[in-house]
Amino acid sequence: MTLDQTHDPALRSWVAAAHEPGADFTPQNLPLGLISAGDGPRPAVAIGDRAVDLRRARDGGLLATLPREVAAALDAPVLNDLLALGRPALRAVRAGVSALVRADTLEGQRAAKDAALAPRLAEVEVLLPMEIGDYTDFYASIDHATNVGSMFRPDNPLLPNYRHVPIGYHGRASSIVPSGVAVRRPQGQTAATPQGPPTFGASARIDYELEVGAVIGAGNALGTAVPIARAEEHLAGLVLVNDWSARDIQAWEYQPLGPFLAKNFATTVSPWIVTLDALEPFRTAARPRAGDEPAPLPYLSDQTDVARGGFDLTLEVWLRTARMREAGTPAERLSQGTFTRMYWTLAQMLTHHASNGCNLRPGDLIASGTVSGPERGARGCLLELAWRGTEPVVLSNGEERAFIADGDEVILRGWGERAGAARVGFGECRAVLLPTGA
Ligand code: CA
Repeated sequence: MTLDQTHDPALRSWVAAAHEPGADFTPQNLPLGLISAGDGPRPAVAIGDRAVDLRRARDGGLLATLPREVAAALDAPVLNDLLALGRPALRAVRAGVSALVRADTLEGQRAAKDAALAPRLAEVEVLLPMEIGDYTDFYASIDHATNVGSMFRPDNPLLPNYRHVPIGYHGRASSIVPSGVAVRRPQGQTAATPQGPPTFGASARIDYELEVGAVIGAGNALGTAVPIARAEEHLAGLVLVNDWSARDIQAWEYQPLGPFLAKNFATTVSPWIVTLDALEPFRTAARPRAGDEPAPLPYLSDQTDVARGGFDLTLEVWLRTARMREAGTPAERLSQGTFTRMYWTLAQMLTHHASNGCNLRPGDLIASGTVSGPERGARGCLLELAWRGTEPVVLSNGEERAFIADGDEVILRGWGERAGAARVGFGECRAVLLPTGA
């Protein structure tokens, strides 16, 4: 798509908080989500400190431009039906909602007078927006792969396949929870040495992983591939993902089949889907291949993807310990990185995923893998930031962290910012780690 009037940085909304400095949910963002005010889940769009109730807006005649099947999809208790209609449907919702949050349209003037149309986010429950049938986690940051590889194989950090094939594994969809849901420290088998013997107990090495997740819109039929030139037609939008990881369980269990219980105890996602259309101003070139790096195989090669397959997003991890909460001190930033250095684009990951005929379905989640950069301050997990526990992070109150402690709250943030465009942000992806349960 190209930029249209919904991206105009001069747009003014009657929602004042959408114009506060640093606001994520600007009038140009319009992310999709699911809210409940005690009356069941309802599709919504976040703006400022409010959520526009799409069903109420439709029933009030404020979304009259929506095609019939798009309007009907708003009756479902999750967003999957809407996502299944593909990007033109999401674009229609975007155009309709843009008109009714604007202060200078007739729809906007009517909407501003309807007190129940846009409840405050603080007064509603924000739910997981879609039913996630399948979740796949990739490993697309070459800086992350190199850092982690060098801890375990100093002479040979990057395996020979890395620059040829997007590496991923199938994760667990049932334990994906929205921001705000507490996560419990898992128990599992761990061993002091790779030879064992193991013991069973609470993991002592809980970590976060800062990732970007892509939500599938229109699916592909089983047995059919998705050409890379059409991959983005299947991408509804992006969320932030915290792929909670138990490093000690992982170290003992991962060979020979890869991650299992070290990863599937919880995954936290930000609950507002920032659409690809909203991110249009932040598209950028894919990470260029260096001279000695192989060209991707033809099925992963596309000129448009090379030119604009990337997303210029800033990503941060913040931490607030129990002691900081008790003292009333704010969260502290652990890292800041960018999503522009990923070795594989989201389109390449999607196309590779479907290249064997695997069917992606509306609402499926594809995560990027930990987003790290070459600098220490851009490392997207504590395993890297504290270098396997050898360089603990020292917080300003003197506390040290090599891994996450009980009571710690991990907060991911992400946004796009560029001259000539309005800021578009994801909101927060936060969760407190609770001690192991009985
Ligand atoms: Ca991961």
